[in-house]
Amino acid sequence: MKIYHDKDADLKVFDGKIVAVLGYGSQGRAQALCFHDSGIDVVVGVRKNGKSWKNAKEDGLKVAEIPDAVRQADVVMMLLPDEVQPEVYKELVEPNLKEGAALEFAHGFAITYKLIVPPSGVDVIMMAPKGPGDMERIIFTEGFGVPALICVYQDVTGNAKNIALGLAKGLGSTRAGVFESTFANETFTDLFGEQSVLCGGQTELIKRGFETLVEAGYPPEMAYFEVLHETKLIVDLINKGGFDLMWNVVSNTAEYGGMTRRERVVTQQSKDAMVQILKEIEDGTFKTQWRAEYENGLTELKRMEEEERKLQLEVVGKEIRKLFERKARAGRLMAWPRRST
Ligand code: NDP
Ligand code: MG
Repeated sequence: MKIYHDKDADLKVFDGKIVAVLGYGSQGRAQALCFHDSGIDVVVGVRKNGKSWKNAKEDGLKVAEIPDAVRQADVVMMLLPDEVQPEVYKELVEPNLKEGAALEFAHGFAITYKLIVPPSGVDVIMMAPKGPGDMERIIFTEGFGVPALICVYQDVTGNAKNIALGLAKGLGSTRAGVFESTFANETFTDLFGEQSVLCGGQTELIKRGFETLVEAGYPPEMAYFEVLHETKLIVDLINKGGFDLMWNVVSNTAEYGGMTRRERVVTQQSKDAMVQILKEIEDGTFKTQWRAEYENGLTELKRMEEEERKLQLEVVGKEIRKLFERKARAGRLMAWPRRST
């Protein structure tokens, strides 16, 4: 894969141009603030009287209702939740989109599954930062950026890739490195990662480990530390230096025990399930199920969230985490708008 850096991107592509950031949540807020600091003319497009409207105003940015923001914009960034994008696009974006503008996404879901079909006269691009919004903003203010992925789906101006690279530069991502991919590859790999390893696999692994210790009579607080709290320490090591660094830092006992036991925990059956999960992503089964859930008012998702909050692991964890709260950092993260379903 080719990796792009600062020298490959030019913020001049935005000279005399307006970038509309639609949505001011996790990605919208971080990206809009970084672009603004990078000298890009940004207008935030949000619902009047929503909490985002107030947040964006308080942060000192230009704010407009979505149709007004789109009408002035040369780049329209769809930084709204994936499940609401199709209807917001149809009603508020499409009728106001300028000929020759660039329509931008941070995830390929809507385009790949054709929930949004853009007109032929606009560029369609993606700039997907590899991190949650608050992290992007913190790393940017420290003078660096998180890596990002760019993709071009439709290039009518001949400038689509330069715009995507410019956005990545505005976020500081070209300081770290920017990869190029396609909408479909980004969508499928992203969904697979979050379902099987990052969000799905990891929580289930932690949950089962916690249950095992508590059912065997060990104190829940100890179980929490062993299977949840320390996850971060291990993941940080892997993130920094791969398995190799992690195995070097943990004890030889941990290394030997881990390597000889892990295949009994995550088995061939788990791998077969992963293969099946990937198929359901690629053939649209997951998309259809998720759209139906959204159209049904997210009732199943809300029920599962409710169940999850009742887990002993979650209840115990809430108390234990209070011991770790450091005032400054907690304050900074709590000021960040939380997402809600
Ligand atoms: P959020 O859930 O944080 O977006 C919330 C924003 O969307 C708020 O400004 C909210 O406004 C607005 N909004 C919600 N519903 C509507 C609606 N019906 N009409 C108008 N505005 C609405 O989204 P994310 O930042 O998490 O995700 C944005 C995109 O970025 C997605 O494509 C996602 O896949 C992608 N992405 C997200 C990452 C992440 O870490 N979160 C990482 C990489 C990509 P209000 O305050 O008025 O409700
Ligand atoms: Mg991802």
